[in-house]
Amino acid sequence: MRVLLAAPRGYCAGVDRAVETVEHALDLYGKPVYVRKEIVHNKHVVHELEKRGAVFVDQETEVPEGEMVVFSAHGVAPSVHANAAQRGLRTIDATCPLVTKVHVEARKFAAEGYTIVLIGHEGHEEVEGTTGEAPDQTVLVQTEADVDDLEVDDPDRIAYITQTTLSVEETGSIIARLKEKFPNAVGPKTDDICYATTNRQHAVKELAKHCDLVLVIGSTNSSNSNRLVEVARERGADSHLIDNHMQVDDAWLEGVETVGITSGASAPEELVEKLVSFFEERGATEVSELRTINEDVRFMLPGEIRKELAASGT
Ligand code: SF4
Repeated sequence: MRVLLAAPRGYCAGVDRAVETVEHALDLYGKPVYVRKEIVHNKHVVHELEKRGAVFVDQETEVPEGEMVVFSAHGVAPSVHANAAQRGLRTIDATCPLVTKVHVEARKFAAEGYTIVLIGHEGHEEVEGTTGEAPDQTVLVQTEADVDDLEVDDPDRIAYITQTTLSVEETGSIIARLKEKFPNAVGPKTDDICYATTNRQHAVKELAKHCDLVLVIGSTNSSNSNRLVEVARERGADSHLIDNHMQVDDAWLEGVETVGITSGASAPEELVEKLVSFFEERGATEVSELRTINEDVRFMLPGEIRKELAASGT
């Protein structure tokens, strides 16, 4: 058996920054550091941070008054900031700057009186946060059929924005349908689907051409990881989402000559390494990488952390 790794894969700049934010907060302030929601959608990452003293809560209202809370990479609604202020919480916002970009667009379109069509998945934390910028002016659309059913007060005053981790192709079709129905619909200057989502989907598309099976490492609540499985399947490969190598089912491997491996934007590389070792122990003789693009995106840590690091001389 041959193993082919997609590149780029795994951690994006936003996840890297969010995880580092919690690690620095633990070092600088000691435990506990409360984190609202999973800092990134990966069980392994969350468990590792829990071991170091992070306490994950569902809502800011669960954090004891006066304590420190970190907001996750997926972003929060303005009401969350307001609740935190009311409870006297010290906050560090680890929202990915590319999610913040979408929040800024939502505020701008809302101020200009548009009905905002948010393309995304119901219940996803990022969607909840973005909707919270202008809840009375935002409607969620998940499919082309939703566009067909959409009714608005003023069809000439529509603006669309999207979740950052959607399928590039599917979202393109939804936007096309929206523009067909509402020819004056406007959108963001640059795509809301982020560079990491786009690059990982493109990489898995190429990977799937050479593989019988594509394994995607990521958690079930990770939107971008689920999209990678879908893209691999659309390109004809069998594909499964797994948390780690222990979830590989022997039945998937029957007759497989080339197994492809990739990982979602919130999955650490050590899980990929363990999966590669798993196949090497089973006789895989060739491990190579299929790179489609080089990534060099880095985001600065949140200002609160940078200030503390500078003050502590680190
Ligand atoms: S997937 Fe994209 S939007 Fe989400 S954290 Fe990573 S870089 Fe930011």
